[in-house]
Amino acid sequence: MNLSVVVPCYEEHECLPLLFDRATAAFDAAGLDYELVLVNDGSSDDTWQLLERFARSGRANHVVCVDFSRNFGKEAALLAGLSHATGDAVGIMDADLQQEPETLVAMYRKLMAHPEADCVAAYQERRHEGALHAALKEAFYHIFKAMADGTSKMVPDASDFRVFRRDVAEALLAMPEYHRFSKGLFAWVGFETIPFAYEPSPRAAGSSKWSLRQLMRYATDGIFAFSTVPLKLATWVGSTAAIASVVYFFMVLYDAFGLQNTPEGYPTIVCLILLLGGLTLLTLGIIGEYVARIYVEGKGRPVYIARRVVVSEGGRLRETG
Ligand code: UDP
Ligand code: MG
Repeated sequence: MNLSVVVPCYEEHECLPLLFDRATAAFDAAGLDYELVLVNDGSSDDTWQLLERFARSGRANHVVCVDFSRNFGKEAALLAGLSHATGDAVGIMDADLQQEPETLVAMYRKLMAHPEADCVAAYQERRHEGALHAALKEAFYHIFKAMADGTSKMVPDASDFRVFRRDVAEALLAMPEYHRFSKGLFAWVGFETIPFAYEPSPRAAGSSKWSLRQLMRYATDGIFAFSTVPLKLATWVGSTAAIASVVYFFMVLYDAFGLQNTPEGYPTIVCLILLLGGLTLLTLGIIGEYVARIYVEGKGRPVYIARRVVVSEGGRLRETG
């Protein structure tokens, strides 16, 4: 098998028929011996029925369909996809055709043309989001790169639209963490990565399921998962406050005894209490974020639960697991 293509699908019944046509046409035309690994991330529509019908149709020689017991999120779907992929190379793309199968083929060819490289990562040359969204993203990449460990070679603006070799997939699978942030994971595992400029198309149908709140959560998850810098914030702010308080103490003493001018002090005290109380709570919150992650990781729960896995070879279905 040359290539396994992993596609996470969540409520994509409008896009899937288009995706199947485009993907099979593109991969067949490229003469690839390929496999589609389709993961239904607990959709409430008929995404699963569409996946199964496609597998049974035999339009693609090898199809693996994984059905989650509920919605576990795209990262979980990607992990499930990777663990079922058997190709020498693995590609990841979305179900909504924003990332075109023809581009994936071009990325695969690029990887094959560069034996020294292990991964081809598509990045968006031009952004299409609103100004606020784009500015937040930009800020996130700067903060993330400055704080995260082992991710200095991260391709800016690269999504998880990628094609990579088996060893990269194995490295990702060896990271069993619960909070998965694939932009960071890809950077962390290293390997030689070639950036590949692409222009995302509009969604074929339906709408994106990401809200701004979810994106913010995703971004903070990424930082907390890859950096311990926020924990050190307390040390810095605390020491600065301590030094400032010693200086202030001597100023008060000088006022009281040198100038015989005992200060009134009430507003100062209120301000200091609020400032230090605020900082203490903020720090506690940050520690809480890490403790919560230790708690979640410590429970060792699986990242996803698959209720069935259907494998199709030439249209013959076989249920495994
Ligand atoms: N997706 C998923 N689980 C989710 C949300 C999304 O598997 O909980 C899939 C979705 O079906 C699509 C891909 O992840 O194939 C990207 O989702 P979407 O298009 O909503 O995100 P965007 O392109 O706006 O980043
Ligand atoms: Mg999309």
